[in-house]
Amino acid sequence: MFEDLLFPKNRNKSGNLLKINTFQHYLYKKNSMKSKATSSILIFLLLTHFVSANGDHSDSRNTASEENSISVNSDGVNPCISDLQYSILESRIKENSLALGRFSYLHPATENTITSLSWPLRPASNLTDCSYYFISAYVDQDTAAGAIRDFNCGNNTYDSHRGTDISIWPFNFYKMDNNLVEVIAAAPGTIIDKHDGEYDRNCAATSNPANYVLIQHADGSYALYWHMKNGSITSKAIGQSVSVGEYLGVVGSSGSSSGPHLHFEIWAGSTSATRLDPFSGSCNTLNASSWWAAQKPYKETAVIKASVHTTDAVFPACPATETSNQSTSFQVPFQGPGLSAGYAKFYAFFRNEVSGLPATLSILNPNGSTYLTWNYTSANDVKARAWSWSKVLPTNPGTYTFQAIYNGITCSSFFDITTSTGINHTGISSDLKIYSSIENRHTTFELKHNSIRQIEIFNILGAKVFSMEGSSSAMEINSELTGGVYFYRLMDANQLVYSGKLFIQ
Ligand SMILES: [Zn+2]
Repeated sequence: MFEDLLFPKNRNKSGNLLKINTFQHYLYKKNSMKSKATSSILIFLLLTHFVSANGDHSDSRNTASEENSISVNSDGVNPCISDLQYSILESRIKENSLALGRFSYLHPATENTITSLSWPLRPASNLTDCSYYFISAYVDQDTAAGAIRDFNCGNNTYDSHRGTDISIWPFNFYKMDNNLVEVIAAAPGTIIDKHDGEYDRNCAATSNPANYVLIQHADGSYALYWHMKNGSITSKAIGQSVSVGEYLGVVGSSGSSSGPHLHFEIWAGSTSATRLDPFSGSCNTLNASSWWAAQKPYKETAVIKASVHTTDAVFPACPATETSNQSTSFQVPFQGPGLSAGYAKFYAFFRNEVSGLPATLSILNPNGSTYLTWNYTSANDVKARAWSWSKVLPTNPGTYTFQAIYNGITCSSFFDITTSTGINHTGISSDLKIYSSIENRHTTFELKHNSIRQIEIFNILGAKVFSMEGSSSAMEINSELTGGVYFYRLMDANQLVYSGKLFIQ
């Protein structure tokens, strides 16, 4: 049985099936030790949704790639943690607790002993994507063999899975290689066990050992952080305490894992039989209350990255590292490998894509007006999927915005169009003055003929790093931004938008 196969049977306006491209598709076979096969299939794309302001800006190289099962382990035979590994963990808890002179809580904690959990991952400071993860499997609440049910009565789990799998995405091995997603303590506690030194590029559910950290909280409950990158485990010793948010390691694919993800598991007591599900929901039979300080929605539908690429991104078979081919600067005349002259690839990465929910993709001119806009509507529910479109680049020099809006969430990135003369900006309107104080790094925006309603500052990859609203004609930005290149977007009281580059000393 295969899950989540995607074969959109869409047609263009003339009714032809369009053969677009091939991609690596990860098939997830249930109830088998060989849980995953890789296959190339053909994708057909709906072109009827493509709208452009001035003619057809699409060529035929529109592609989709689905990674909803890339980091999902399979079943009770080789889950994220094997029965043998669980029993080893229980033994080590006993040994280490004894050695530390600590009381090992043998009984399940009650509802009175709920530790408040924060999110156990954070992006490294140099990761500026709008988000970086999706949940590939919750705790299996159905103890019957072969039956699955998550806390929300859905099927985002696999048989006898005892934790929450949080996959990093997109470009997951690239993220791992570059330490871009860190595992942090979800709650304060004491390191009761940890292990490092294991191979971290596994691609299938196996009996391999993992790199991990096990933390005991003040109420006697435990949190298990599993599958981490080789060599990344905290240097703190067993017995030392950690605070909430403290670094524990880097997300990897050590142990029984089919791709870089964190397996996060909560025990009320010192045995795996006391496992809990931190998410509250009508099908959670393990505990009534949520253990999260702020429980995330069951589906966090969003576009988590919008980016511009010189050609197709390369998603090789696990465990090879992906090549994004992302770029923030295009010199015209531009020729991308394999693309029509003047075209680039525009990627949007959707988390928990929902059937029928439309996304709006736009390329905005340096002055904020629309250069090109198109829509995409998903035909099915998918945990994580990348879509890309070939679009003709602007040719006037300047700083443009690629913006994707999905489920009310906007994700943007910026790119420069340059010429061989090196001119890379169309200049600032004479209505707008920007001046900076070198001493205190304050920047003042002043409009000649109108008041400023809003100023937003974005970093080089398009993440919004500052936002301020007002109603006066001059606004001073007193930010803690580090020196470097940023982009501003200023909107006046008439909703006229000014945008451009900003250098902070
Ligand atoms: Zn897991």
